[in-house]
Amino acid sequence: MTSMTHIKIEPIKGSVSAAEWQARVDLAACYRLCDGYGMSDMIYTHISARVPDSPNYFLLNPNGMLFSEITASSLLKVSMDGEIAYKPDTPYGMHPAGFTIHSGLYRARPDIQAAMHTHTVAGMAVSSLKCGLLPLTQTATRFYGRIGYHDFRGPERDPSERARLAQSLGSFNYLILRNHGLITAGASVAETFSAMYGLERSCQAQLQAMACNTELNMPSDEVVAASCAMYGPEISRSYGLLEWPALLRKLDATQPGYDA
Ligand SMILES: [Zn+2]
Repeated sequence: MTSMTHIKIEPIKGSVSAAEWQARVDLAACYRLCDGYGMSDMIYTHISARVPDSPNYFLLNPNGMLFSEITASSLLKVSMDGEIAYKPDTPYGMHPAGFTIHSGLYRARPDIQAAMHTHTVAGMAVSSLKCGLLPLTQTATRFYGRIGYHDFRGPERDPSERARLAQSLGSFNYLILRNHGLITAGASVAETFSAMYGLERSCQAQLQAMACNTELNMPSDEVVAASCAMYGPEISRSYGLLEWPALLRKLDATQPGYDA
C-alpha cells in the first residue's frame, strides 16, 4: 500500500544549471535548518533564493509542504512578475504573500540573493513591542541601527505592498514586520540564515530579560556604538560562510535527503 504521507518529487538535478542546483541545495538546507532550530511555523512563512544565473527568478517553497520535507527539487521557480517557471508534480502552488514579500525585496535590491521570513513566538512578540529590538545583548548589537520596521496592514497579498516593503527596508538587510514577524536578507543563503539565527536569539534574550521584573542593565551608548561597529561590514567577515559547511554536515548526519 502506498503511504499517503510520502510526497514523491521527481529529481531535477540534471535538468537545471549547476548554479541553480547549488542554490536549490543551499535553500533546501536552510528550510531544514530553520525547522531544526525551531523557527518554522508549520507550512507558513517562506525562505527564498535568487537564481544566480537567472536573476529575474527566485526559488520558493511549495505552499503545503512542511519545512522538514523540503528538498532541492521540490522548490518552485518563480519570476518577479509571478510566473511559475517550474513547479514539481504536487498539489502545492505558490503562496501569494510569499510571492509579494520576496519579489518585493528582490525587485528593490539587486544585491539581495536570499531572504528569510519567520513567525517565531519571540519574533512576533518583539514585533509587537513599541520599543522594538533593544541593543541589550552583544548579539542584538549586530542589528542595532541596521534594522527597518514595517507597519502591519494585514497579510501582504497585494502587489502594491512591495513598494512599501522596499521603503521600510531601505538599505538595511533586516526588517521587523510589526505585529507579524521577522525578515532577514543577504548576499547568500548562508549569510541570511546566520542573520536570522542571531536576530531570533536577540529577540528571545530580550523577552526573557524583560520578563524578569527587575531593572535592565542597558549598555551605554558608547559601548553599543562600539559593539555595533565591530559587526559592521568593513570590520567583520561575511557572516554565515564559516559555519555553513558545518551546518550541512549536521544535516547530512541527522536529516539526509534535502539535496535530492
Ligand atoms: Zn508572515
